[in-house]
Amino acid sequence: MKDYEIIIIGAGPAGLQAGIHAARRKHSVLILGKPEGSALYSAHIENYFGFKEKINGKDLLEAGIFQVQKFGGEVLKEDAVRLEILEDNSFLVETEKGQKFRGEALILAIGVKRKKKLFKREDQFVGKGLSYCVDCDAWFYRGKRVAVLGDGSAAVHGAKTLTQFAKKVYFIPLKVIDELEEELSGYPVEIIYAKPVEILGEEEVKGVILEKEKILEVDGIFIEIGAKGALELIAPLGIELDPETLSYVKVDKKMQTNVKGIFACGDLTGPPLQLAKAVGEGCIAALSASDYLKSKKAKS
Ligand SMILES: Cc1cc2nc3c(=O)[nH]c(=O)nc-3n(C[C@H](O)[C@H](O)[C@H](O)COP(=O)(O)OP(=O)(O)OC[C@H]3O[C@@H](n4cnc5c(N)ncnc54)[C@H](O)[C@@H]3O)c2cc1C
Repeated sequence: MKDYEIIIIGAGPAGLQAGIHAARRKHSVLILGKPEGSALYSAHIENYFGFKEKINGKDLLEAGIFQVQKFGGEVLKEDAVRLEILEDNSFLVETEKGQKFRGEALILAIGVKRKKKLFKREDQFVGKGLSYCVDCDAWFYRGKRVAVLGDGSAAVHGAKTLTQFAKKVYFIPLKVIDELEEELSGYPVEIIYAKPVEILGEEEVKGVILEKEKILEVDGIFIEIGAKGALELIAPLGIELDPETLSYVKVDKKMQTNVKGIFACGDLTGPPLQLAKAVGEGCIAALSASDYLKSKKAKS
């Protein structure tokens, strides 16, 4: 397991700006995340300081990664799937490929999941057999049949977790997932290659209707799109959320969460969901993490 002083989860503008400031303070820094998962990736920006013409989000992200690396930071294009607080108050981070890292401080910059509806009647089944969070709801499906529908690391990790609870786990990929069969080998998960069309049921989930009018009977459906989102990733850490929305991480002016050594920035901390705010908060989070490390060292 490799150690870093600061591990940043998220390679969007907030995480990359945090990485630039942390690396320039001479900390060892690892950023985990995929730039193509950033809200900025497909955006064209006109309201960000310092550019006379419209700028392309993808180019900005590439430049940000270059800057982080120029100052000695490392960027690994993998999603984090598990975070844990260790006994010495440092943090374990596990990636989708099973790599493990230890950080003295953690900066969360994973943005927000913009939920895309997969099914017309999706809303009416939430909590009635349809879930978006394996780590929150797997327990309710002990001994039952479930289907995981997804397109990336969160879905693959979710399917593996569900094998500890459910009696039967199906996996329906929503797009081609690299090395999917290899990733799931050794786990009792049946992969179904068919497009899901609608949810089967009236009051509660009874199954998934697949293309060509095939029916897959299940008691629960988990929709996991993209990487693990904030709620799933931080649930085991006891991080407080904003009490009004329960969707954003609560931070103070230093971008510190209620858990010592964990900072958050960008869209994850709430509106305005804007590039300038994400970058500003990334800067503050890194400087605060740096001060935290300094005072931790002074005490030891
Ligand atoms: C279409 C569109 C247009 C926009 N236009 C504008 C505009 O004109 N002006 C403006 O100011 N703002 C605009 N925005 C908003 C702006 O893009 C966001 O506010 C900004 O990108 C937020 O930065 P962030 O770093 O907090 O999150 P994001 O940019 O979303 O980055 C989050 C990062 O975390 C990663 N991640 C997520 N989960 C995990 C995980 N489990 N492990 C590892 N990494 C993870 C993602 O892959 C990504 O790299 C626009 C957004 C969109 C979608």
